[in-house]
Amino acid sequence: MEKIWETHSPAETAALGKEMGKNAQRGQIFCLTGDLGTGKTVFTKGFAAGLGVTDHVTSPTFTIVNEYHDGRLPFYHFDVYRLSCEEEMDDIGYEEYFFGDGVCLVEWAELFPDLIPKEAIWLTVEKDFAKGEDYRRITLRQEVEP
Ligand code: ADP
Ligand code: MG
Repeated sequence: MEKIWETHSPAETAALGKEMGKNAQRGQIFCLTGDLGTGKTVFTKGFAAGLGVTDHVTSPTFTIVNEYHDGRLPFYHFDVYRLSCEEEMDDIGYEEYFFGDGVCLVEWAELFPDLIPKEAIWLTVEKDFAKGEDYRRITLRQEVEP
């Protein structure tokens, strides 16, 4: 399955994230890819809001994973950019999260493709300079329906 959205402001991207957060289900894993500064964190903040998270959402670049327990479902936000091997994913106990009771969102998941379950939902955020500074194309792909 593939779906494409186009947004023209950070607010629109956050609103799309919020809609997906509202509809997210226990056990789902969202993998977010896209260059630095495309809007992954903007999307994620909206997503968390859609799940009902009210805690301030910050980028887990140094902590690798941030947990939020005040929403409709537990929310686990990963940024695996700084990890250099799969063993480090083991060290943070990623399986407990991926196969756990909440919703996972993983920034830079493409660095560890072999660890990502085949039912995961992949979202790619891309710029297109021909369409303006604030334009983003967001593509959803899910190879295997759960
Ligand atoms: P990433 O997490 O992918 O590195 P961020 O979400 O931190 O990126 O930053 C995205 C930047 O792009 C923000 O400064 C945001 O204001 C800007 N921006 C401009 N247009 C958009 C858009 N349509 N969607 C998301 N962010 C946008
Ligand atoms: Mg980010």
